[in-house]
Amino acid sequence: MKKIASKLKVLLVEDSKTTIETVCGFMEKMDIRNPFIAESGKAAIELFKKNRPDIVLLDVLLPDIDGFEVARQIRALEQDGDWTAIIFLTGQASDENLARGIEIGGDDYLIKPVSEVVLNSKIRAMHRLTEMHRTLVGMAHQMNTANMELQRLSTTDGLTGIANRRFFDEMLLREWRRCSRMKMPISLVMIDVDHFKLYNDTYGHQAGDECLKAVAVQAALAVTRAADMAARYGGEEFVIVLGETDLNGARWVANNVRQRISDLKMVHESSKFDRVTISCGVVSVMPSGKLSVDTFLHSADQALYLAKEKGRNCVVCGEYGQLD
Ligand code: GH3
Ligand code: MG
Ligand code: MG
Ligand code: MG
Repeated sequence: MKKIASKLKVLLVEDSKTTIETVCGFMEKMDIRNPFIAESGKAAIELFKKNRPDIVLLDVLLPDIDGFEVARQIRALEQDGDWTAIIFLTGQASDENLARGIEIGGDDYLIKPVSEVVLNSKIRAMHRLTEMHRTLVGMAHQMNTANMELQRLSTTDGLTGIANRRFFDEMLLREWRRCSRMKMPISLVMIDVDHFKLYNDTYGHQAGDECLKAVAVQAALAVTRAADMAARYGGEEFVIVLGETDLNGARWVANNVRQRISDLKMVHESSKFDRVTISCGVVSVMPSGKLSVDTFLHSADQALYLAKEKGRNCVVCGEYGQLD
């Protein structure tokens, strides 16, 4: 008789001592030793909960709840992705009983007395299914992990690790709509590193990259509320979206980031400030369907331009739609 190579956990639910003896004898020859044995439906559920067997051999007529009810409860106990093979054992060979057993969640149906060859074959078939199921669950888990990583990569800026432009665009629109519904203001801080071309020219592109990472860290540290977000807008430009925040709040955040960068004292000898600094353009608005997100962004950009004109290392607040 063919043996089962791996450790297979079997729960035998049967109230007849003779059948228990016979089935256990057959299983021993398959190398399935020490199966869990329950002589009532309630005991079966308890053993199932405790040991999570791979296969349940389930008598239909039991002294308390019947085998169909046991099967139903087992299926209810299984978590998402779990699957336990259930084979009914019964003396009643009616089509209705078979149909009911399968309907309720059973996987196969054996008529007692069970022959050794049939039991052996059925257990091996179920074992094969159990293994396939396990492989599938493993693959689903791997795909899930890969998907989460893809999701992370597609929303993160490769250099700095903060949100990228794509994610920012999505988030801005979401916040815009949310604030519009809540009748709350939304603000934007557009950030640009001052004389960054000169920084690259003086210290090299790699040092430039390190500088951008440091700026990103400070921008991210300056946003503390869950709905706020700092993102790399592109090149040496960063952006912070602040939901439910008015101009005063946004100006405060912008100045905080500006101060944080200045406090890093990253040497920039070609700048009149002798250190790396940033300029910020801030704009705040009560969003509505009549206003446009593009104009909102453009207004922040415009304010940033004014901050550059004003001499850099400063924050300029603009107004929505006030262009040029
Ligand atoms: P301003 O004060 O007016 O902003 O002057 P600026 O030199 O910062 O502005 P400009 O737009 O002339 O130069 C931006 C520079 O940023 C040029 C570009 O090479 C550099 N840059 C953009 N992306 C990256 C990057 O990922 N890494 C590095 N190291 N440099 C970058
Ligand atoms: Mg019975
Ligand atoms: Mg720029
Ligand atoms: Mg710049």
